[in-house]
Amino acid sequence: MKITNVIPYPIWIGSRNQLLVKIETDSDVFGWGESGLSARELGVSGIIEHYKDIIVGMDPFEIGKVWQRLYRSQYFEGGRTLTAAISAIDLALYDIKGKALGVPVYELIGGKQRDIVPTFATTSAPPGQEMIDQAKKLIKSGWQAFRLSMSSDGGSGEFESIYTKSRQLQNDELIFEPRESLNKTAEWLVKARDELGSEVVLGVDLHHRFSVAEAASFCNKLPSGTLDFVEEPIRDETPSAYEALRKMTNIPFAIGEEFSSKWQFVPYIENDLTQFARVDICNVGGITESLKVAGWCESHYIDMMPHNPLGPVCTAASIHFGASIPNFAWLETRESASENAGFSNDEIIKIDHKMENAMFKVADTPGLGISVNEEILKESKFKKWDPPQLKRTDGSVTNW
Ligand SMILES: [Mg+2]
Repeated sequence: MKITNVIPYPIWIGSRNQLLVKIETDSDVFGWGESGLSARELGVSGIIEHYKDIIVGMDPFEIGKVWQRLYRSQYFEGGRTLTAAISAIDLALYDIKGKALGVPVYELIGGKQRDIVPTFATTSAPPGQEMIDQAKKLIKSGWQAFRLSMSSDGGSGEFESIYTKSRQLQNDELIFEPRESLNKTAEWLVKARDELGSEVVLGVDLHHRFSVAEAASFCNKLPSGTLDFVEEPIRDETPSAYEALRKMTNIPFAIGEEFSSKWQFVPYIENDLTQFARVDICNVGGITESLKVAGWCESHYIDMMPHNPLGPVCTAASIHFGASIPNFAWLETRESASENAGFSNDEIIKIDHKMENAMFKVADTPGLGISVNEEILKESKFKKWDPPQLKRTDGSVTNW
């Protein structure tokens, strides 16, 4: 079998852009992948056009070789844009191979180690009583692991809801003040643990909006046992900064959703800087690279907790990955959110893995277990959009 075509679809679906990739072959089998560099889809799409020239004619079954060929195809290897493109191609090749052999992808990567893939939920209300009430509802629906909300206090109100609205807008400038946010978030997390009890797993995603000092202050405002994990408290460019923070708190960290290769994970795993690995299968380099990260994590007793903010292709690939590795915690899911990302539309992309009692039942459909209505994709267009541009009250720029 040979690869005959690679088609990127950077298009607006539901309430945001999404980059889907179709790979065609000289047989009637084709595969779908998804790329995860949100808000920079046109850049990744351009890289996929470059990569098309390299992989047309290659054997789609030689997935590891295609990965190496693409990663090492020119002098300036690596980086988020390139590996986001490689990720989508890698997923599509797994979809092709599974369909061609008539087996689900988990059979290609060691077989199932679990029949269901547990998920964690995320509250959408800002820190307050409504957030706690949402968590109680999620517990009733079966979730035992949560991310509670982080406060966006500091002048512009709750930008998480503004974020949803801002998907229609351009160049929003919203105010974020770290100290105000961390104080309010910590106050409500303590109340939440008190009301929700000690059995549920509680975490919070700080979205790398803090400095080391601010993140340490935040963690130290929480009595021991309040949180089971803190996600991305600071940016990740400097692992030694995480080493400093790791010494200032005993709360486990969940890091890695932005990492674009196994090499980026290395210092975090080898120095035990993270306790959960937030690998993103659509950014790190697909299933091929995620399996390598998982193996390295296994040797350090670190469980995988995949980032999964995209569409059903990402979810399906993450389910096969999660089902096939021993060291797995929970898969992120948007099915718990009050407003989903707009991708749960069976008319556009259908996923065979169904959620039951807060867990995905692993389907045995050949390939990834998704089907895509390409006609709708052909009619869809890309919309220019950027995330809100956050600033401090003094006018300086801060992280989204
Ligand atoms: Mg996150």
